[in-house]
Amino acid sequence: MRRWNGWGDDSINYPLPDSAAYYLQTLVGPGQPSPDVPQEQLLRSISASRLPTHPLISTEPLERLLHARGQSLPDWLDLRTGMLGTCPDGVAFPESSAQVAELITFAMKNKVSVIPYGGGTSVVGHINTLSSERPVLTVDLSRLNRLLHLDHNSLLATFGAGVSGPDLEAQLRAHRLTLGHYPQSFEYSTLGGWIATRSSGQQSLRYGRIEKVFAGARLETPLGCFELPSFPASAAGPDLRELVLGSEGRLGIITEATIRLTPLPDTEDFHAVFFPDFENGIAAARQILATGISLCMLRLSTPTETRTTLTLAGHETLIGTLERLLSLRGLGDKKCMLLMGFSGKAALVQANRHAALEITGKHGGVHIGKTFGSQWHKNRFRTPYLRNTLWELGYAIDTLETAVDWSKVPQMLDSMEAALHNALKSASERVHVFTHLSHLYPYGSSIYTTYLFRLAGESTETLHRWQALKSAASQAIIAGGGTISHQHGVGMDHREYLPAEKGPLGISALGAMLHHFDPGGMMNPGKLLP
Ligand SMILES: Cc1cc2nc3c(=O)[nH]c(=O)nc-3n(C[C@H](O)[C@H](O)[C@H](O)COP(=O)(O)OP(=O)(O)OC[C@H]3O[C@@H](n4cnc5c(N)ncnc54)[C@H](O)[C@@H]3O)c2cc1C
Repeated sequence: MRRWNGWGDDSINYPLPDSAAYYLQTLVGPGQPSPDVPQEQLLRSISASRLPTHPLISTEPLERLLHARGQSLPDWLDLRTGMLGTCPDGVAFPESSAQVAELITFAMKNKVSVIPYGGGTSVVGHINTLSSERPVLTVDLSRLNRLLHLDHNSLLATFGAGVSGPDLEAQLRAHRLTLGHYPQSFEYSTLGGWIATRSSGQQSLRYGRIEKVFAGARLETPLGCFELPSFPASAAGPDLRELVLGSEGRLGIITEATIRLTPLPDTEDFHAVFFPDFENGIAAARQILATGISLCMLRLSTPTETRTTLTLAGHETLIGTLERLLSLRGLGDKKCMLLMGFSGKAALVQANRHAALEITGKHGGVHIGKTFGSQWHKNRFRTPYLRNTLWELGYAIDTLETAVDWSKVPQMLDSMEAALHNALKSASERVHVFTHLSHLYPYGSSIYTTYLFRLAGESTETLHRWQALKSAASQAIIAGGGTISHQHGVGMDHREYLPAEKGPLGISALGAMLHHFDPGGMMNPGKLLP
């Protein structure tokens, strides 16, 4: 069963070896575990629903609680420490576009706000209920999950937008096809959510970000049905799909989406290469990209992230052997790890791998084979479970991300990390910070930074710590000319930073567009725009 106040399935755990727990202690001090509030206590705190009755809407406190928050750190604090405050007045589970349209009409008639809900994996407050005079209806799209149409010749499929990652891929695999979109939240996030947040999957180098594979859609809006047909390409004026991508539920509800597919690859290989330092790693990665070698993923960790990954991995004997081997090859404390993925026809995979390894070798890279890469691939959706374990040990862990042109990458990485390191100095708290470049483009890269700090005795103090960290790093991103999000979206947590990159004219154009589709301001109010 899915955890109601943490990440993932409650039968899956990520235990840490004692040595890793000790390592964390040395970095930021002993953890300060904080007991969770029981679910019954939160259920008792939920006030009566303000919604008129409707056959498609449940006003049960449990459904309302389960749809109240996403996966951001403040969301966890609300659920685990009982600071909930607001939750939707009801939750609907429509089974068709017609039922979604009926719910929007009901909401308009009764002056109700509507929050579209995919998998609830948002990490920036997209699906949270804000306190408001109006009742709030959350529309859970999980029952719109079927493959509606498959055009094998055109490599196109139309799905109900509430389909989750595993369900979508299972239905395509039966036809030997794939979408290839694997965000780390793959287990629970949905096609509609990916489109509405402009998501990026771990293998975006081969399959592209969601905007590349999003071909068309049907949306139910307060003004009626908005249909976007699929074309292989079009010069018929501005592309209206761009209005839907990143719309964060403000425009309407995506009920169906048409996506572009790829035949299942014959082979997929993941390899690890260690470099003497980060600069050599970057130089090799950029050369690989510039040469046009075909890969499905590249992920370059800084020395600190490399050290942290090796320590938290467990398998002390195996890692000890690896460390000795790398040390014999002259790699010391500054070493950093590059993961490379290749997929496609076996012969092409082999040729691309050879070409990439030739380049990494020229930059002092030591190729250690497939074991580490295969382990990463096998466990890639398991890593978020570590967040549960760390919380129970008394530590909070969160991530931040941006993207900048290559010329700005080193400076941006340094200033994000410095902002996080310094943010809790006044509270005499240490922060462990590490980074990787995970979505690399020929012209720039995303920068994905993880930070770990201790929970405070008081939940409000933990929230203050998080706010200080988030705000310091977000300001560093804006000051350095980065985007406030490469993949997580805007929601509530990033909206104050949006004007810096869109400008006043851009923000007013965006506001006018949302107002056009939703003149009553009923769709997911308070998200995306300040
Ligand atoms: C552990 C973890 C790892 C993550 N890794 C990644 C990653 O690798 N890459 C990445 O891009 N993101 C990642 N995320 C963030 C998150 O998973 C994405 O933003 C995802 O796209 C959200 O999808 P969802 O279905 O859960 O949407 P929700 O969280 O339910 O909703 C997000 C937003 O989309 C809107 N929305 C959802 N469905 C619809 C619909 N059908 N019509 C209209 N609006 C809709 C909602 O109103 C809301 O504004 C991660 C999150 C977690 C918790």
